[in-house]
Amino acid sequence: MEMTSTPMAKPDPLEKLRRPLQFASRNDFSKIDALTGLERSVSAWLREIEAAGTSKATATRLKELGEAVRGFDSLDSAEKRRRVEAALRLLDGIEKALQRRPRRHPESPRQKAEERRAGNRREAPVPEKPLLTNSIQRVRGVGPKRAETFARLGIRTIGDALFFLPRKYVDRSRLQPLSALRPGREETFSATVLEGGAAFIGRGRRIYEVTLGDSTGVLTAVWFAFRTASMKDRYRPGRTFLFSGVVHSNPRRRGRLEVHHPEVEELEEGGSGRDSLHTGRIVPFYPATEGVRPRAFRVWMKKVVDEFSGQVADVVPSAVRKRRGLLPLTEALRGVHFPPGGGPADASGTADPEGLNAGRSPWHRRLIFDELFGLQTGLALRRDRMKRRRRGRAYDLDRPLTARFLKGLPFDLTSAQKRVLGEIGCDLLGPSPMNRLLQGDVGSGKTVVAVWAALSAIQSGHQAALLAPTEILAEQHAANVRRWTDALGVRSGLLTGRMKERERADLLDSVMKGAVSLVIGTHALIQADVRFRSLGLAVIDEQQRFGVMQRSALREKGSDPDVLVMTATPIPRSLSLTLYGDLDLSLLDEMPPGRKPVETAVHVGGKAEAAWRLLRRELGAGRQAYHVSPRIEETERSDLKAAVETADRLRRELHPFPVGLLHGRLKAEEKEAVIEGFRRGDIRLLVTTTVIEVGVDVPNAAVMWVEDADRYGLSQLHQLRGRVGRGGERAYCVLRARPPLTAEAEARLAVMAETADGFQIADRDLEIRGPGEMFGTKQAGAPDLRFTRLLRHTDLLTQAREDAFALVERDPNLSAPAHQGLRAWVKERWGDRLDLAEVG
Ligand code: ADP
Ligand code: MG
Repeated sequence: MEMTSTPMAKPDPLEKLRRPLQFASRNDFSKIDALTGLERSVSAWLREIEAAGTSKATATRLKELGEAVRGFDSLDSAEKRRRVEAALRLLDGIEKALQRRPRRHPESPRQKAEERRAGNRREAPVPEKPLLTNSIQRVRGVGPKRAETFARLGIRTIGDALFFLPRKYVDRSRLQPLSALRPGREETFSATVLEGGAAFIGRGRRIYEVTLGDSTGVLTAVWFAFRTASMKDRYRPGRTFLFSGVVHSNPRRRGRLEVHHPEVEELEEGGSGRDSLHTGRIVPFYPATEGVRPRAFRVWMKKVVDEFSGQVADVVPSAVRKRRGLLPLTEALRGVHFPPGGGPADASGTADPEGLNAGRSPWHRRLIFDELFGLQTGLALRRDRMKRRRRGRAYDLDRPLTARFLKGLPFDLTSAQKRVLGEIGCDLLGPSPMNRLLQGDVGSGKTVVAVWAALSAIQSGHQAALLAPTEILAEQHAANVRRWTDALGVRSGLLTGRMKERERADLLDSVMKGAVSLVIGTHALIQADVRFRSLGLAVIDEQQRFGVMQRSALREKGSDPDVLVMTATPIPRSLSLTLYGDLDLSLLDEMPPGRKPVETAVHVGGKAEAAWRLLRRELGAGRQAYHVSPRIEETERSDLKAAVETADRLRRELHPFPVGLLHGRLKAEEKEAVIEGFRRGDIRLLVTTTVIEVGVDVPNAAVMWVEDADRYGLSQLHQLRGRVGRGGERAYCVLRARPPLTAEAEARLAVMAETADGFQIADRDLEIRGPGEMFGTKQAGAPDLRFTRLLRHTDLLTQAREDAFALVERDPNLSAPAHQGLRAWVKERWGDRLDLAEVG
């Protein structure tokens, strides 16, 4: 739904995006392989564009654009070309959409009238309460100009405004006297300017200082980089303001108390504490934006809340609300914006500022419950539709292929593997297609499970496909699988983007005729001309690397094939229920026997001599090692040179052990030759980038050495470490970083040293950085969660899930009259990601 929209403030990031894409497409894409690092640049530019403010529709296109270049460097040329073409098309669409937007002239009455009419047309989705979908220009005091400013924050309708929550709350119910301020704490105090206007250059920056005081003490407010004239004018001696900020004690100035860049509000004439909206209470702070002062924002929001919060339609069934003890929605909205505080306690008690800031207040909990309930209702509907499909094929699990396969394995299955085979077996025997997520830590043995499932399909007369995110991984799977399946007389094929035309045509032909029963491949597998005779099962490995589109493209190669998606990025259960809540979940929560945890050492700075000794010792004992450094991926010539130099240096230092170099600029065949050399043991130390990150399995590798380890995220480090310790012998991981480290990087490295358990790492990861982009629900094709912090609100998630699934089971079409509001609301949130046409 495209509501009122802002013209793009700065169009140039779009141009920046276009340039490399055009460069790549020149001369019929002959330069395509020279284009590296695109993914990173694009995501930086996208952030820039998004920061400038976009409409919802454009934001979606931008996301798709990001999706299009995901994993770009590891794609083959043909796929790269397709991606670039897609990106250019998306870019065109975005540009057109931006041009189509009306240029606004603040004082054009005709336009205003037009807008109002357009606004009227847009009323509807929640039939009984149409007001909230109106433009915020309906609120008194908001003209086109203000509306543009708000649109930058994503506030276009009155409903948007109501659900635009404070960024934080500051307890101003008790203003601190200056003598009571303590360094290190965020404090709010009222103080009078004693002396203003000390401006000078210090520590390389321009500094402006104002001395503040009250009857109990003094404190200095400090600003870096400022405009002197306006500062002088504002902070005149004798004026009183309200300040909020973290108080510091400055060691260079004998412990003088300072506050840097405080949030400042002018107190109205007549002094402090009387104005109920801004002081003397718990005060909401909304995300700052140019053009709206915090105070004005608050006043405006108060008006919106007072006038419209009574209009919201409460779509959560009242039985659910009662059972969970949730506040009425209107009350929740009022409380979340202007929590009662300072005054006499109401039913839910006086607001607790900490609870508010942690999103744990009863008002927050109501809104979060709704968000999760909407999500889970959608997931329940999706799952219900899936379960109602009927597979047109039968499986036979009691055939020789699977039995012989298991017998031929050189090891016994772990009990977790056996359990999962049971779960998959049940799915395959059941009436509707399988939709299962197999979650298992790195090295837990997912491949065996996948091959078993594939053989089940094959022995029942169908085909199976295995999709892998990189060529290296697809080739490795193909090689491993062949070892197992050749002996069983099963024909398998490898399909990648860089096959010769003839080879490819032959393979596609055999696949179409059914002569090849198991096809392993990269993205090449989902191209339009790949057709199966009867695709029974599709497996998607390292599924977090793929988007929703690619997964459904593979699904469409068969008629309702069984689908098994596998992921090694361990994610907390709370998250898998959110992202993949419409799938059944299997866990491989047990490692094959004999695995010893990888010994991990973190070296920050220094020469890491002990680590070097260790590396030499392991190489001397016939083992192999990885040496990962992030620089090699970069497009800069100098970085490539640095990589070559690193390899040369290691070659000299580790003489006579053979050293190989793998980097993003190598041609595909060269890459393969290097990997193959490492696999055979001809290369003992592999200098590489994170190309190696997922899936690669060389059991003789004993050391994973990571340079600049602070630059990686936890799940990446965990994946990297998972490359070693696969053979049952001792293995080591060396994480090196150069100081200074950010607090976050330090925390990450500490986690790595502490634990090897992927699920624990995932929990800590989420704690350290919050469920950010990586866990974006977009990837799973579900709406974003705006208010929920999954680790904090697991209880609400569980409740919402129970209630939503129970509701959909009773009323799978949401056709009961009492569910009409809910139906419309879910439909609006999910849009076309949920095929509600199917809903009766
Ligand atoms: P991942 O789950 O990371 O994909 P893989 O399937 O690559 O793990 O398995 C890792 C290694 O463990 C492989 O070499 C595989 O053959 C081996 N493996 C799998 N299952 C077992 C088992 N039950 N016992 C011993 N080794 C196993
Ligand atoms: Mg794997």
